[in-house]
Amino acid sequence: MTNRVYNFSAGPAAIPLPVLERAQAEMLSVNGIGMSVMEISHRSAHFEGILAGAEQGLRDVLNVPDNFRILFLQGGASLQFSMIPINFLAPDQTADYVITGFWGRKALAEARRCGNINVIYNSAEGGYKSTPQQGELNFTKDARYVHYVANETIEGVEFQYDIDGGGIPVVCDMSSNILSKPIDWNNYALIYNGAQKNIGPSGVAVVFIREDMLERIPTGLHSLLDYRNIAANDSMANTPNTWAIYMIGLVCDWLKEQGGVTAMQTRNAEKAAVLYNAIDTSDGYFTGHADRSVRSMMNVSFHLPNAELDEKFCSQAESNGLDGLRGHRSLGGVRASIYNAFPREGVTALVDFMQDFSQKNG
Ligand SMILES: *Cc1c(COP(=O)(O)O)cnc(C)c1O
Repeated sequence: MTNRVYNFSAGPAAIPLPVLERAQAEMLSVNGIGMSVMEISHRSAHFEGILAGAEQGLRDVLNVPDNFRILFLQGGASLQFSMIPINFLAPDQTADYVITGFWGRKALAEARRCGNINVIYNSAEGGYKSTPQQGELNFTKDARYVHYVANETIEGVEFQYDIDGGGIPVVCDMSSNILSKPIDWNNYALIYNGAQKNIGPSGVAVVFIREDMLERIPTGLHSLLDYRNIAANDSMANTPNTWAIYMIGLVCDWLKEQGGVTAMQTRNAEKAAVLYNAIDTSDGYFTGHADRSVRSMMNVSFHLPNAELDEKFCSQAESNGLDGLRGHRSLGGVRASIYNAFPREGVTALVDFMQDFSQKNG
């Protein structure tokens, strides 16, 4: 087999090797039918089984309650930035937005096209390093929903609790930390994510929507932007991304073998602790971006003493089989994404490289 490197990419990100190998083995004939999953009708019984399997897999690993629908859509998490206000926010209504980083800002910009937005928390002044305490959040009376991003993938800032909307529906972008730990569904009305961080390949977004939310949707929306229509058609209002849905099913099977999301949570915490410890014991050579209390278990953003060293670090790391470490263009620095599929040995290899690099370039 070709040598595989340690892939720290933020997304599309590493997929578990056993999943890739199974997909490879099933590439020419899925479930023994003599055709690839990419070659069969989405209306066929074969694909219906695959879709149902992917949905059941997510239900099993995340303990999704029966009153939530699971929808597979296209357009990524980014289209959800628009679909949420299109479905739930009329021009004369207000929604609350909590802004803790880059993706929250993107969501905000789209929502503003639809109705009134009250930004009830914004960490811009502090450089997007923090999250609010629940007690700091003053919701707008009659807010249609409150939106936040559970894990800001670029800044590496992760909520350590679920926002309680106090009766206001809570809508959450979990693109980069879904499946990294259990979800307390009682707190949420809608959770969405692009699959390419911690679920599978790009090209599919997964939306978990509480059934009563479907009743709030106005009539007359464009059919492919209407959650109710997509739910009524079981995610097949048009041709879905059949390949990506198939891969989600495989990832869920793998997760079950690994002990599920609770086991993942433990492993993710261990991996992250090793890396943050290397940052904290570097005598200031490496500086973490996020406030310590809200550090992400998935995306570890840090920087070296200057931008030149950041670049040198990333390119030398790449030559050493540590790929995808360059920080997002909006923040610079270094970012190590260590999702479920990322092995602990890769974290150790990075820590060794960090120590070596800081000694040679101190
Ligand atoms: C990557 C990411 C997005 C954008 O996802 P697309 O699928 O590319 O639209 C949105 N939100 C978060 C938190 C992300 O990490």
